[in-house]
Amino acid sequence: MTVVVVGAGLAGLRVAEVLRDAGYAGPLTVIGGESYPPYDRPPLSKEVLRGTRSAADIRLRDDEALGDLGVRLRLGTAAAGLDPERRQVLLADGEAVDFDRLVIATGVEPRSLSALRGMPGAHSLRTLDDCLGLRHSLHSARRVLVIGAGLIGCEVSASLRAEGRAVCLVEQQSAPLAAVFGDKVGELVARWHRDEGVDLRCGVGVAAAVGTPFGTRVTLTDGSEVEADVVVTGIGSTPATGWLQGSGVELGDGVLCDERGRTSLPDVWAVGDVAAWQSQGRRRRVEHWTNAGVQARAVARDMMGLPAEAAAVPYFWSDQYGLRIQAYGDFSADGDISVVEEDGRRFLATVVEDGVLAGVVGAGMAGKVARLRRTVGQAPR
Ligand code: FAD
Repeated sequence: MTVVVVGAGLAGLRVAEVLRDAGYAGPLTVIGGESYPPYDRPPLSKEVLRGTRSAADIRLRDDEALGDLGVRLRLGTAAAGLDPERRQVLLADGEAVDFDRLVIATGVEPRSLSALRGMPGAHSLRTLDDCLGLRHSLHSARRVLVIGAGLIGCEVSASLRAEGRAVCLVEQQSAPLAAVFGDKVGELVARWHRDEGVDLRCGVGVAAAVGTPFGTRVTLTDGSEVEADVVVTGIGSTPATGWLQGSGVELGDGVLCDERGRTSLPDVWAVGDVAAWQSQGRRRRVEHWTNAGVQARAVARDMMGLPAEAAAVPYFWSDQYGLRIQAYGDFSADGDISVVEEDGRRFLATVVEDGVLAGVVGAGMAGKVARLRRTVGQAPR
């Protein structure tokens, strides 16, 4: 049996690791479009952006550990197509890579704003190269406009404020992170940003942008204008499935999978940010670090014929201004979200859906979050 993984990120690497741990000793190729060996993405909006960790610091495995894994890493060339009849992945440089079993782990690509396309000083943040390019632009920048106060936009704003830059953060919704945690938690996060000196503008979008001799002038939908040396866009992402068009693998918002990550094609699985797994009667993509590892483990075990493991409570985090937001559970911003404790900076919130505690969210309250987390899935007390 020959296993090929497309995508040399967190999920792709984890699949390879679990396969080896589970005793798979056959050929294993991991294909990566980027030229870097697998690295960790969360520090890109935090320590790497602030310059306190380097590219080398965020590698997921060093050369020796990668060698021990016995993986053929095919980096710097993206997969351009999939031929399911011949069981081949077609690479952009013309090579065809044979497989018996295939794992799709290509992650997502950031959405861009048409008004900013091709504009010098306009950035998004998904890859190490994006981060290094942004840091380079920041050398001579003082005023930064961040568009989108989702997880990445908020973290970028916090990192840039830590360096003393002037940050304007623009969000279409009523508050930062409202799409993730609802308005009440969003208001608490808004207070952090305002207290730290961010010029936060909610309920507005981008109407137009023009380059000026001094940077970029962005006109917002309320008619106001923002001048910036650098513009960072964090307005969400789309699954990296372009290379799968016409392959017959069923696509929707990502690669459509069952509850074990199996796609519509035999012997083809999908994991991580790109994959929309069946869960609780619907298909859903999850763009969080912990989920990539959990799904990778499930897929590798399924491939090896091992039984499925009990599901853990989903978890993700975000670091801003020295506080860590921790979120447990499978919930949406439409749930009944209540702030149960807050001291102006730290907070604890619960999410109730269909009469059960669907989630717990806290910032700077790790002990209380850990205690409440054990009751997720039960009726709230
Ligand atoms: P990726 O890590 O994106 O890996 C996919 C790989 O596939 C990429 O290297 C890509 O270049 C490659 N690829 C794409 N197309 C092709 C192709 N056609 N051929 C070959 N290779 C291809 N999560 C949290 O829970 N907490 C955080 O604090 C947090 N912070 C984050 C900060 C940033 C800036 C970013 C970008 C993400 C953050 N995340 C965070 C999310 C987390 O990093 C992702 O959920 C995780 O990386 C998903 O892993 P993945 O392997 O599915 O995708």
